[in-house]
Order: sequence, then structure tokens, then C-alpha cells
Amino acid sequence: MNDATPGYSTLPDAGEPATGFGKYEIVIGLEVHAQLTTRSKIFSWSSSAYGAEPNAATDPVCLGMPGTLPVLNEAVVRAAVRLGLAVGSRIRGRCRFARKHFFYPDMPKGFQLSQFDEPICEGGIVRFRVRGETKKVRLVRIHLEEDAGKSVHAAGGFSFVDYNRSGVGLCEIVSEPDVRSAEEAAEYVRALRALVRTLGICDGNMEEGSLRCDANVSLRLRGETKLGTKAELKNINSFKNVRDAIEHEVRRQAALLDRGLRVVQETRLWDAANGVTISMRSKEQAHDYRYFPEPDLPPLVIDEKFLADARASLPEIPEDRFDRYTGSGGLSPQDAGVLVGEREIADYFDAAVTVGATIGVTAKKVANWLINEVLARVDDPRRLGAGDLPVLPSALVELVALVESGVLSGKQGKEVFARMWTERRRAADIVAAEGLAQVSDSGTLQEACRRVLDAHPAEIARYRAGEGKLIGFFVGAVMKETGGKANPRGVNEILRKFLQGN
Ligand code: ADP
Ligand code: MG
Repeated sequence: MNDATPGYSTLPDAGEPATGFGKYEIVIGLEVHAQLTTRSKIFSWSSSAYGAEPNAATDPVCLGMPGTLPVLNEAVVRAAVRLGLAVGSRIRGRCRFARKHFFYPDMPKGFQLSQFDEPICEGGIVRFRVRGETKKVRLVRIHLEEDAGKSVHAAGGFSFVDYNRSGVGLCEIVSEPDVRSAEEAAEYVRALRALVRTLGICDGNMEEGSLRCDANVSLRLRGETKLGTKAELKNINSFKNVRDAIEHEVRRQAALLDRGLRVVQETRLWDAANGVTISMRSKEQAHDYRYFPEPDLPPLVIDEKFLADARASLPEIPEDRFDRYTGSGGLSPQDAGVLVGEREIADYFDAAVTVGATIGVTAKKVANWLINEVLARVDDPRRLGAGDLPVLPSALVELVALVESGVLSGKQGKEVFARMWTERRRAADIVAAEGLAQVSDSGTLQEACRRVLDAHPAEIARYRAGEGKLIGFFVGAVMKETGGKANPRGVNEILRKFLQGN
């Protein structure tokens, strides 16, 4: 770094919007690979499920045996079309596959079947929020391709190849260079993950590699419209990596530019253990791959009926859910953001709100209890979809209704919830069995209030002389008298009436 260079500054502190880097503007375009959860592979019949014994989920086509022919899996096409429709892409009525040539031991054919000049989806917009602001990132395209196998490097200098992943269908989602910070990049990937999981086309599991992301990063002087030279970062497999890799790369490029040096266009590998990016290879050009149309597959034709069926199958996407929650649902953007971040949370919430609507429990109340009690107790929010949760949506709503109707105080409600969770019992059971119900019966409350007032004539005199805040003292005394079970609102009313009266 050159101290003499004016205008250089370090990254903004954590907590500050990382939208700029001193005099430079950060420009990022992302290529996200989403592994499709279809039963079989994109061009052959072996299973695409993760986790089988090495090379158990293979077949002659995905192993690249000579003479085998690919047959396109319709489910893969449907997944890509549904994703394209969900982000407003144009779906090509006719597209084709192309061979992309390169050598790697985990790719036995010597080429990867991908799409080049005729991708299945073009354009589209991914909408998401960063620090409460809506951000829109345009897509260049979404294309289909096959995944490669996996090389496993073992001790003693041995390497093994596992072809289970070979031929699994992928959607590659290519963004325009619209992203302006590492934080935005992470939120963008998070939004895509929520989207593909909501569509049910990819499990979004970054650690297992079902969602992978390459980040193209460049800098340019603020106000400049031409793009700077980019570096492509590979091997990013968590949200934290997305941020760390980009922030590191931005620093590296800024330091080069500050010294008057050029950024070399290349592919760099993110080394999470050491927190650095390492040059991997100079960037290949499209012509290096010698793309040409796959002769063994006819062009893919997508007709109106296929499109209409795909459109009809679309669920509500996370950003539409967000709009509904903050609109008619009356939730804060923060709460709505938490709920739509994981498909299972939003599904749980919707189920609870539906039950709540029949018994007068509002969406806002459901959201509070869901976020503060349920989510606080699950480390992986995807568990909400498993159906074996100790408190299912209808049970949660029953509890909220008991609190809202005054049968339980808020504090009691929380205690009952904790027991519902550990004992797997319904709220009404616990309340009935333990005699927990808050006392709202006015006869009982009146007696308790009367006893308290009779015991404190001096305080009554002070209250009447204008010390209004003593009402809190009386309410507290009645709560003590009733073992904390009295409904404080009722107590308050009765006390005021008595104090005004005689
Ligand atoms: P390449 O031919 O090098 O693969 P593409 O034009 O196909 O480049 O773009 C790949 C990705 O890189 C896209 O997401 C695109 O938005 C992004 N990108 C392209 N140029 C830049 C740049 N100068 N800075 C940042 N990202 C870029
Ligand atoms: Mg490219």
C-alpha cells in the first residue's frame, strides 16, 4: 500500500454499509450454480441424490463411456423454466446444448454439456433487501449444464475420483455486474438460495456444494462508467466466504491500483483457511473452450403448454411473501425478513396465521412468538419443516390465544411455551393440569383487591392526596396476594374503581 496515494482508505468498519472503498467503486457480477434435486441426472438415469457410496450413483452415460448417448431429463428443464419464470426471465422457445471442452479427471468425456449461445432463460431480475433497502440485480441468463465428478485427494499422494456428482443437473445463474459490495453479494446469494428452496428445485446446501458461487470482482474510480479489469473468485462455499473473499479481493485490487499497477484478468481461488485469494490460472477465453452445438441432442423446444403448466406450479416467491407480510400482515420489515429467509419458517408462519385467523390471533402476534420462542430454540431453522417439532403451528396459536384472551399473562405464556417444548404437551393441557390459568374472575379479584386496600389505609390516603403512581404498588400487592395469577389489567381496573369510590 502506498501512503502517498491520496484518497486511499481501508474498508468501512463492520456495521457501516460497505458500499464503497475509498475512491473506488466496487463492481461485482456473480455466477451461481444451483444443483437440481431431480431424481435422476440431467442426461441419464442414475440417482442425483447426495451422499451415496463413491461411484455407486453412476451409469455409462455419466461415466462418459464411448458410444453412450445423452437423453434430456424433462424434470431438469421444468426446474430451469420455473426458476426463469420466478425471476421474470424470457424463456427461449427453442434452445440447445453445447459442448464446452476442457480436461479434468473428474470429467471423463473431455467436455461438459452446457449451453452457450442459446441459454434456456435470458434476462430477469432478482430482488432482495440489504439493510432495509430494496436492491435489484439484473440477470444476464440462466443456463443448464451437467455437473462434474469430484476428485478426492488422499494421504500418500493418492487421488481418487468419485463420479456420483457427474451428470447432475445444474442451473447456472449469471448476474449482470450490478452488485456493489461484499454484503450485497452475500444477500444476493441468500436471496437466490431462498428462491430455489421455495421453488423446491435445489436444497441450497452450500456446505455440500449444492449451491456454489463464483464472484467476479473489479474496481473502478467513482464516476467512471467503463468496467475495470476483473478477477474471478472460485471456491466460495458459505455466506461468510462470499463476504470474506470479496473483501479480501477488493483490498488486493485497491492496493495494486494505488501503486499504479494493473489488475490481471485471472481466476483466483479463495483460501478460507488463510483468508487470501490465490492465483489459479489466467482467465480462459470462450474460444479456448471450442464450444460447439451438441450433435447428440436435438434442439430443446419449449411449447406454450409446458410454459403454462410451469407457471401454474409456481409458489409464492420469498419477495412476494415479504410484501404480503409487511403489507396486509402488518409486520415490520425486520420480522418479515427473518420469516422469508427460510422457506420452512415462512411455511410454518403461514400455517399458524391461517389457524390464528379463525380465533382472532393476529399475524403480528404469531410472528412475535415464532421469532422469540420457536426460532430461539432451533439451531437449524430448516427443522421447522420436518413435522416433528415439539410445537406445531396450531399448538403455538392455541397458546397465543390463551395469552391474548387474558387466561395467561405474558410471563405465564412463556413458561407454558417452555414446557410445551420440552414436554411435548398442548398449552391447554398444561394450564388445566397445573391450575396455571390467570385469575380473571372478577369476584375473586375483587376480594383480593379489597384485602389489599384494607391492609394499607396510609397508602390509600397518599394516593388520594395525588400520589397516583401508588397504583403500581397496589397492583403489585394484589399480584403477590394471588400468587402472580391475577390478570393485571383486571386488577388495575378494580383497584381504580374502589379507590375512586369509598
Ligand atoms: P467471462 O467471459 O470472463 O466469463 P462474462 O461476460 O461471461 O465474463 O461475465 C461473467 C460474470 O462476470 C458475469 O456475472 C458478469 O456480470 C461479471 N462481470 C463481467 N465483467 C465484469 C467486471 N468488469 N467486473 C465485475 N464483474 C464482471
Ligand atoms: Mg462466462
